[in-house]
Amino acid sequence: MDELAGSLESVTRAGPGGIAVEIETPRSFDAQPGQFVKLTAAVDGKDVSSFYTISSPRVTETFEITVAVDPDGDLGPWLSEAIPGVSLRVTGPFGTAHYEGESRVVIACGGPGIGPAVAIAERTVADGGEAVVIYQDDDPLHIDRLDALEAGGASIRVLGTDEPLAPLLTERVTEDTDEQVFVYGFSDFVDDIEATLDDVSTGRELKVENFG
Ligand SMILES: Cc1cc2nc3c(=O)[nH]c(=O)nc-3n(C[C@H](O)[C@H](O)[C@H](O)COP(=O)(O)OP(=O)(O)OC[C@H]3O[C@@H](n4cnc5c(N)ncnc54)[C@H](O)[C@@H]3O)c2cc1C
Repeated sequence: MDELAGSLESVTRAGPGGIAVEIETPRSFDAQPGQFVKLTAAVDGKDVSSFYTISSPRVTETFEITVAVDPDGDLGPWLSEAIPGVSLRVTGPFGTAHYEGESRVVIACGGPGIGPAVAIAERTVADGGEAVVIYQDDDPLHIDRLDALEAGGASIRVLGTDEPLAPLLTERVTEDTDEQVFVYGFSDFVDDIEATLDDVSTGRELKVENFG
């Protein structure tokens, strides 16, 4: 897949240690919430790339990614200081764990997995569907968007890392064949959730994206 030329539109704070990065959409690029891209930038004269997942309900003139900034990382800290207009290169979209018009979505997410989760929930509600978001993080991001989703009728639960997520998830997963379960986050989180869902899922395909 070819690299597409884009540029940074804006960087805003999404919460403690997290940023929402708006990217000017490269020509001929389109993607669904939940798909991911490889983002490349010249950092101190060296090309640095990392994977990030689309966190805007639709790709329009711009699209958004949500980045949990790892202070020891290369691209995250650079993005948090970057100036609008700076060049970025986008490769993608990749991934099959994305929104496909499902009428009911149940999304379990941890850490920066909240990015695709709010995007898919916003899109589902905008398309007249039902959305359940169960989010585990001690320093949650996108609280404003979660509040707006809740006000719009979505079911939103934010848990600390010491609170059990499994009972809540098993309660919210139904037999509804139009329901799609999504899981987004780093490996430890995803492994735990997949183990939980093994017990409850009705054999339907889960849509899982593991951030490594
Ligand atoms: C499919 C996919 C989707 C993803 N989506 C998102 C997303 O939406 N949002 C998000 O925040 N993250 C996402 N990630 C995770 C993100 O790509 C990684 O966290 C990435 O490492 C961040 O890049 P960075 O340049 O900021 O940090 P990096 O420079 O990659 O460093 C990250 C950490 O790894 C350590 N590290 C780096 N190199 C080494 C090494 N050789 N040995 C040991 N430790 C090392 C660093 O010290 C640092 O602590 C996704 C990952 C995948 C695979």
